[in-house]
Amino acid sequence: MINIVSCRPSTLPMRYVVTETEFEALNFPDAPKMVSAAYPGPKAAEALALSARVESMARGGGRMPVVMDRAFGVTFKDPDGNTFIDLSAGVGVSSVGRCHPKVVEAMRKQSESLMHSMEVNSTRRTELAAKISEIMPDGLRGDCTTFFAQSGSDALEAAVKFARRVTGRHQIIAFHGAYHGVWQASGALTTGTAYRKGYGPFMGGVIHAPYPYAYRFPFDTTHKSAEQIAGEYVDYLLNTPYTAADDVAAVIVEPVQGEGGYVPPAPEFLQLLRKACDKSGTLLIVDEVQAGAGRTGKMWSVEHSGVKPDMLTFGKGMGGDVPMAGLVMRSDLAAKIPDGSVPNTFAANSVSAAVALTNISILQDPTLGLLDRAHKLGLEAQERIRSFNSPLVGEVRGRGLMIGIELVEDKTTKQPLSGDKLGKLMGHLVGHGVLMIPCGRYTNVMRVMPSLTIPRSLMFKALDIFGEGLESLRSQ
Ligand code: PMP
Repeated sequence: MINIVSCRPSTLPMRYVVTETEFEALNFPDAPKMVSAAYPGPKAAEALALSARVESMARGGGRMPVVMDRAFGVTFKDPDGNTFIDLSAGVGVSSVGRCHPKVVEAMRKQSESLMHSMEVNSTRRTELAAKISEIMPDGLRGDCTTFFAQSGSDALEAAVKFARRVTGRHQIIAFHGAYHGVWQASGALTTGTAYRKGYGPFMGGVIHAPYPYAYRFPFDTTHKSAEQIAGEYVDYLLNTPYTAADDVAAVIVEPVQGEGGYVPPAPEFLQLLRKACDKSGTLLIVDEVQAGAGRTGKMWSVEHSGVKPDMLTFGKGMGGDVPMAGLVMRSDLAAKIPDGSVPNTFAANSVSAAVALTNISILQDPTLGLLDRAHKLGLEAQERIRSFNSPLVGEVRGRGLMIGIELVEDKTTKQPLSGDKLGKLMGHLVGHGVLMIPCGRYTNVMRVMPSLTIPRSLMFKALDIFGEGLESLRSQ
């Protein structure tokens, strides 16, 4: 087993002494490597056919013809032995890489002593709640409580429920392009047509406002930025009569929009939301399920704006290889929620808690400097993508290792890349051993969201294969 910290020569200073070779050692060697004559190989094809018969495709698995059998770091093998580089990290989940030796060890140790306890406190869960309080952004740090949940959707359901309980109000403002989950309250906040059509009516009382997606903003931005317009619009909704926003409990916002297209607004947007909420006594809830846990180069993406949230949801990267999510509330708000009013059987299993504690300690390890590294590597990756000079790249944007590449048919009209071309690009990537997934309102934004431990060599190998894929589309 590799112990990347104890490998460090003792004479070196404490900061960033972990070398790229050590990051590389936490992956299968030689990725990407395709051994099947054609993709998918025979075993993957069989596994895909079986999956189509026995698993619900509601989760979307049918769209990606890849089968994961074993994984290490940012690499994985399919059942035929093909080795891939993964730039998706399980949709931003594997913050420290899959099957990290320290995580595996923490799971093993914890599973030998305690796994489930719901009806009484457990040491590991309480330890995690205390750690979360320590690492929260300003406004919550040191004075908050955590309600543990099992998924991001679950955490957002809790956010809506508790916001209503503590304010005595019922409406919620969310944003166009938002993704906050799929159930009746979280699904009501989410705007993606694919997730809504035929499933409604969802919970009532949700008002959607424009998100400052500058590349495709519906209003003229000659004199004011998209951030100003979108922020002022929420102020207008909350603080003027006759807008029908007369009973708003909370504004729920992704500080960097995820599924809606990897959109990082300037800090002013959240600052304006904070002011509008303060004037009207509305809670500001930041959804950090996708952008949190270090992904954007700070522990929480709201920290880029200096805004103090009243509540924060987390998920994905906090648990990494195991399910872990939750809602963090200011203590004075949490005190208004009656004891025993929202039980949750499987929330914060001790094994998940032990893994989250390990993930946090790796994210905070000063010898790794992962957050700083995410910031720098993210900038380098954006530069590499721009250097492809592809006419199909409308915009490259992002914060840290949350990068969106908006693909278009034409840079002037901004017409989204056709589904046919996107399919060909995905085919090129998968056929050459790279996993990348799209997002965005038109499913035309490719995301670069690898584990924060990705070795530079694997990042650039994968990006160059992406660049070749763009080039091959050009010649078609
Ligand atoms: N909030 C955000 C910002 C998300 O990106 C997601 C998932 N993509 C969710 C909530 C829902 O998380 P889950 O899939 O774990 O329910």
